[in-house]
Amino acid sequence: MSAMPTGPAAPDEDEHVELSVVVPCYNEEESLPRLVEVLTQELSALTPHFEVILVDDGSRDRTLPMLREVHRDHPRFRYLSLSRNFGKESAMLAGLSNARGEKVAILDADLQHPPTLLAQMLPLLESGEYSQVVARRTRAGDPAVRTALSRLYYRLMNRLVDVELQDGVGDFRVLDRRAVRALLTLGETNRFSKGLFAWIGFPTAVVDYENVSREAGATKWSIRNLFNYGIDGVVSFNYRPLRMSIWFGILATVVAVAYALWVVLEAVWHGNSVPGYVTTICAVTAFGGVQLIVLGVIGEYLGRIYAETKQRPLFLLKESSESDVPVTAALG
Ligand code: UDP
Ligand code: MG
Repeated sequence: MSAMPTGPAAPDEDEHVELSVVVPCYNEEESLPRLVEVLTQELSALTPHFEVILVDDGSRDRTLPMLREVHRDHPRFRYLSLSRNFGKESAMLAGLSNARGEKVAILDADLQHPPTLLAQMLPLLESGEYSQVVARRTRAGDPAVRTALSRLYYRLMNRLVDVELQDGVGDFRVLDRRAVRALLTLGETNRFSKGLFAWIGFPTAVVDYENVSREAGATKWSIRNLFNYGIDGVVSFNYRPLRMSIWFGILATVVAVAYALWVVLEAVWHGNSVPGYVTTICAVTAFGGVQLIVLGVIGEYLGRIYAETKQRPLFLLKESSESDVPVTAALG
């Protein structure tokens, strides 16, 4: 054997794993070395029976070769590699469905989810009172506009959506087996994980932490992504936008009828003839707008139904640290 792995011993085949840590990685070559270092240190202090599942989400940089090396040097770090970029939600799901641990933690590769917090989170889970422990970040240091916008978003969102979502609460959390099993029964294609975590319910504890900025590499979120994510959040969890579009339609009709009546009565009483083309243009554009919005809402749901009916797997594996890992997960 070449260089002996330092640190924790290799896991046995049938070892009882106490804690699995799932980390989705997309183009994280710059973050990985530090991540492995921090995780090895933190997790060894928590339990000797841990495993880390690094999920390469179809990275185009050196992430995958690095994962192979990490696994070779630290056998407690397993890896899965998806056949292409399926998105963070799918990468997390791949990790979750392959986690063997009694408890499963999920965190980001860029160390924005400080692993030191696990030492605070795990005891809450071990008390047996909670099935999920979520970390909630404070928005200290975020641009004021971004903070205000997300406040507004969550306000609106919680009026619309049937499950309650919290600002600052993301995917950084620890789940017990019961919660993991519950999550793996949800086989939907459009996975809005924030909502899914909330949907499964179970007693949930919250631990606050200070916002940290990314250590290396770049964020994969653009404004457009965030906008789409926002729409996903609303549409994934209820039918209220469809109901709202009916109300919207009724309102527009009432206004139009009232206005028409007023025009007629004005003509009868005062003999005024209002020049027609301005009002016509207004009416046509206003109704055109309303109809497009409503159609868009309907289309959004229709598209989702289409995606769900295909029942495609949510990810495909091309490689993993073990040979017996199935190419995809059977959910539901
Ligand atoms: N990620 C992923 N697939 C993607 C995009 C992101 O697995 O398509 C991972 C990424 O490697 C990181 C985590 O998801 O571990 C969060 O991504 P990022 O830091 O870009 O998001 P932010 O922290 O800015 O919300
Ligand atoms: Mg990040």
